[in-house]
Amino acid sequence: MSSSGTAFGIASGVVVDTHVSRITQRLGLTAERDAVKIERDLMAELPKREWIDFSHELIHHGRRICIARRPKCDVCPLDELCPRIGVEASRPVRRVKKKSSATTTRSQRVPT
Ligand code: SF4
Repeated sequence: MSSSGTAFGIASGVVVDTHVSRITQRLGLTAERDAVKIERDLMAELPKREWIDFSHELIHHGRRICIARRPKCDVCPLDELCPRIGVEASRPVRRVKKKSSATTTRSQRVPT
């Protein structure tokens, strides 16, 4: 992983953080799960001049659109290209159950 890219403009590798890892897997750019192996795959596929910007763009994309738990595929510019590997077709919306009132008021009690 490289940190000299942003500071000095020296492309010595492709930064692979959680966003880059997740999105490259979803896009089918790598089948690896280990950051070092993902970086190796990306370095083999991308021209060196793209290494720095590619990571920044994917990190931004991962924060705004291709978020971990609920990617916004319906507004994603990569929608038509992306095989969405590992993305569930539609996740049910988790609803919060309303608390039922366990106590009754005096006026709700039925006289016996
Ligand atoms: S289409 Fe969906 S899974 Fe693919 S990159 Fe866009 S948001 Fe992520």
